Amino acid sequence: MKVILTVAIVLNILLVSAYADTPTERSNEDFPTKQNEKNIERCTQNLVAIGKALQTYRKEHGKLPLWLSDLHGKYLADENNLLCPADENGGKPSYARRTDPELPVSYDYTQFDSGYQELTAEKHYIYGDVIPIVRCGHHANEDFTCLNLSLSANIYRSTAAWAIYEPEAMYGGIEKAIATLEIKLQDAPDDKRIFELYPALVRLYVETEQEQKVDVLVNNFKSVMDSEHIKDNFTLGDMLEMVGRHREALQVYEGLEKQDLNNRYIFQRLAKVHEKLDNIEIAKGYHIKFDPVLALIGKSVPDFSATDFDGKPISLRDYRGKVVLLDFWAVWCSPCIDEIPNIKKVYDTYKNAGFDVIGISLDHHKYEARDYIKANNIPWRQIVSGKGWDSPVSRQYNIRSIPAPLLIDQEGRLISHNARGADLERLVAEAVRDKSTD
Ligand SMILES: [Zn+2]
Repeated sequence: MKVILTVAIVLNILLVSAYADTPTERSNEDFPTKQNEKNIERCTQNLVAIGKALQTYRKEHGKLPLWLSDLHGKYLADENNLLCPADENGGKPSYARRTDPELPVSYDYTQFDSGYQELTAEKHYIYGDVIPIVRCGHHANEDFTCLNLSLSANIYRSTAAWAIYEPEAMYGGIEKAIATLEIKLQDAPDDKRIFELYPALVRLYVETEQEQKVDVLVNNFKSVMDSEHIKDNFTLGDMLEMVGRHREALQVYEGLEKQDLNNRYIFQRLAKVHEKLDNIEIAKGYHIKFDPVLALIGKSVPDFSATDFDGKPISLRDYRGKVVLLDFWAVWCSPCIDEIPNIKKVYDTYKNAGFDVIGISLDHHKYEARDYIKANNIPWRQIVSGKGWDSPVSRQYNIRSIPAPLLIDQEGRLISHNARGADLERLVAEAVRDKSTD
């Protein structure tokens, strides 16, 4: 009963605030605005129903279901509760990898694999029952990014995307968030598991112009952190950078560099902080140390020879005269999978204008890539070694993280090492046009 009451109150506040924001002078955008409000209202009702079903399920099973479709039937009678009216695809979460295997579901849900279960448990320890468990990302035209359902069946809006935990949204306002985090850190200042609250609180202090409180917090953290530990030093660096103390952050990262010469994430930190200090050339050097592929931009990409998925020989040289995307990907890489529809779109638009794609799978088992390629009708050629990071082509190109989409021009020179999203189409359009006007 208490849960239902909480939900009802939150729902009320949410609806009141949705209408309070409506301008009094209506323009010709009247209809979409009203429609958006209706969508939010309906989506909120869905989340209320899902929240109740999850509570009951959890009470009975002692844990959450793997998928939201597991609720259907006994716990959730109406499967339409799993569809947000603003979801134009009629049942697709924001991230393809989280697609429910049984029913069309518009919502992102956290429990489907052990990695997310661990993350949820970790965040639950840090923040409590306020953490989001189901999220809707289909109301993109609003002033919020996600509509969230918390573990305690509360519903709230946040501007954070998936897997970013926003205390001001979760605790119902920035002042409440500050007060809560201050208490948590006072109670257990040296509990490593909640160390991420230090930079979270610094950000809230900066946003509420209470920079004077930051010094105390930074000093408190210095007294409990492990100065040999890379993660703790990064946390300290985050805090210093947020308040513009870049020189001190630089010292922290330089200290780490002396300890461990080969950690590329230290190079990445050094690159960024040197950029902020306007040391552009030094920053460039560290960017290349972080990602050696960068050094190839504008230069010829070395050729490779391999065997494709169908057993035929394939080399980069075969593609001379075409603009080609070398897409290093894996089924386990969510951002890689999320990008596939965009690559497909660009491929369909420009394949007759001289654009092609070669996929290089970094999956650890051949069947994982094969099943995905077949199920999703991916039309371009693939190199699937089943050797993960030891795939010969990825080793040859020094690929250390994915997604790594390398876009190569007609003469075999690297155009971009990060051709994704809207950039991909823009860069491909430019590259094929350059050729046709030559
Ligand atoms: Zn929605």
